[in-house]
Amino acid sequence: MQGLFHHCILQIALDTPLNAIFDYRWHCDAAEQPQVGQLALVPFGRREVMGLIVGIAAETDVPVDKLKDALAVRSQLGPLSAQWLALAGFAADYYQRPLGEVALPGLPKNLRVLTTVALDRALKKLAKLDAPHDGTPLNMPALNPSQQEAADAIGGATGFKPTLLYGVTGSGKTEVYLQSCAQVLEREPDAQILILVPEINLTPQLEGNIRARFPGVMLATLHSSLSEGERMLHWLAAHQGKARIVLGTRLAILASLPNLKLIVIDEEHDPSYKQQEGLRYSARDLAVWRAWQLGIPIVLGSATPSLESWHHAQSGRYRKLELRERAVKNAVLPQVKLLDMERDKPKDGLTSQLIAAIRQRMERGEQSLLFLNRRGYAPVICCESCGWISECTRCTSFMVLHRPEHRLRCHHCSLEMRIPRHCPTCGNVDLQPLGRGTQRVEEGLQMLFPEARVLRIDADSTRKKGSAQEAFDTVHRGEVDILIGTQMVAKGHDFKNLTLVGILNPDTALFSQDYRASERLFAQLMQVAGRAGRAAQTEGGSVSEVLIQTRYPQHPLYGAVVNHDYDHFASALLEEREQAALPPYLYQALLRAEAPELATAIEFLTIARDCVEHPGITINDPIPMSMTRVHNVDRAQLLVESASRPMLQAFLREWLLTLREMKSRVKWSLEVDPLDI
Ligand code: ADP
Ligand code: ZN
Ligand code: ZN
Repeated sequence: MQGLFHHCILQIALDTPLNAIFDYRWHCDAAEQPQVGQLALVPFGRREVMGLIVGIAAETDVPVDKLKDALAVRSQLGPLSAQWLALAGFAADYYQRPLGEVALPGLPKNLRVLTTVALDRALKKLAKLDAPHDGTPLNMPALNPSQQEAADAIGGATGFKPTLLYGVTGSGKTEVYLQSCAQVLEREPDAQILILVPEINLTPQLEGNIRARFPGVMLATLHSSLSEGERMLHWLAAHQGKARIVLGTRLAILASLPNLKLIVIDEEHDPSYKQQEGLRYSARDLAVWRAWQLGIPIVLGSATPSLESWHHAQSGRYRKLELRERAVKNAVLPQVKLLDMERDKPKDGLTSQLIAAIRQRMERGEQSLLFLNRRGYAPVICCESCGWISECTRCTSFMVLHRPEHRLRCHHCSLEMRIPRHCPTCGNVDLQPLGRGTQRVEEGLQMLFPEARVLRIDADSTRKKGSAQEAFDTVHRGEVDILIGTQMVAKGHDFKNLTLVGILNPDTALFSQDYRASERLFAQLMQVAGRAGRAAQTEGGSVSEVLIQTRYPQHPLYGAVVNHDYDHFASALLEEREQAALPPYLYQALLRAEAPELATAIEFLTIARDCVEHPGITINDPIPMSMTRVHNVDRAQLLVESASRPMLQAFLREWLLTLREMKSRVKWSLEVDPLDI
């Protein structure tokens, strides 16, 4: 019997911080050879874990007595393709993480469990589903000439072609995506298309549109609110090529898509494309790499493109297509006006002009949206007799008053307590809320407009699964007169009956130390302004308006918003960035360290700074992070910069080898292309 079996060595990537590939022995049966890209269950320490086969060899350097056997190969699952492995490999290299830490968390949890029950069930379910192949679109509206030009350019493109679709809010970018998709699906019977949106709340609107247009193809969604069972099924549908359109949030960029032919990134400027913990990747940047790898077109759409993408468009690396007007006939961009809060002092957070404008909308049966990017009732409570304020005991921040819930909450470490009855230092019972969040504005609105149907949408009001969707539906059905919300309401939504947007307190971002703050504020204001006046103006209806309450009406940023002038604003910002040598003219990485004492974190970073030679690289001094303490841990950072991306990458690789060797007890992490520094 001897000759029938032989051993082979499976080289396996595991989800562990150890930067290594692990060798296991496997009895290779000639009838059933394992393949690279398959999953294998292996013993690791005292556990059994799922790993990914990245190589198969005849021999290993691991001594025989140390070599363990792999326990099972998941042969019922087709292997991940070489291209998918290369994508994971690129992300691992670029973001300086072990391959296994990138590849395995990118897979559904149910694929990584010890038993195959969930997998077998999902495969059985999927086998029963037909994979309809009719890419014929239904009910496609006639496009206007600029939309048509864009759809033809994107849908007809072959090869790697990044396109920046720069279209004002309401210009019908969605329609361009859908008709580009239609062209690709009709041309290539097996083609798959990946569409990314920045926020989970934007998936239902687009999902509805896609299903209505393409009833003959399978659509799979991938986002964080799917159950594990759904996620497994949808992931497999994509992996097997059955799902022709995959719609998802940033995590979907790592979906296995064997026939990917087009990538769409909607609202490409949105910071949500950047994962802010663990593997801190940019789904947008990975998408561009993936399109390059496969030699396929990619479209990045936005009314306020990121400066990175704008820069690429200006330098000719990306092709720029423009939609300058709103798509709906007689819908025009809203008039933006600045309300000087020094002259018109606000009452309950609202100036008299804004109140009058809301009243007018009420009388005409139109909707108003008030935007305030601060949830809770008041950002802090204080004692007027001794000066005590509600600081968090664990963070460099304040406890936010949540009045309806009768709680104080820290938004950074989630510490919670009942509202104190009296001042903890002097005993004064008259504690006052300071400043204003969405709950307080909601309360003020109810007093000012007792007859109005007021709805608040923010992270607090939408904690329950499905409640955000329900809230947005209520607005779409016209059952809300005044909507108050945080950035959750600012993005992407196509509210038809909304003719007024009020922006309550944007000034704080004007004076931020973060060099990206003005880019972000500008985009946010343009986006929220873009929710107004999306339908045709009716006779006797209001001109749509955006009213910005500010103490600095002369500020050039507001001037640009008033003029809807992204072009000049972006070009001016880019010029400033070039002169100040900031991204996108410079490449950055950030080493962060955490310790119970700030000094320990700084000391680690100082050693890190001095431990290697670094020609062509600037390493700044270690500094405390702007929010230094979170959950009783002090945090510091070290910024590394270079004018050359390859040089920075080469340096980081070397540097990390040294840092891993240091075996410091300080918890540290590296972020490449950080957004917040
Ligand atoms: P954007 O994503 O650019 O902000 P949307 O794609 O949401 O804009 O489109 C705004 C509105 O214009 C939607 O109500 C959409 O149905 C409508 N629309 C888009 N294209 C056309 C068209 N060619 N004819 C008529 N209406 C259109
Ligand atoms: Zn006091
Ligand atoms: Zn806290």
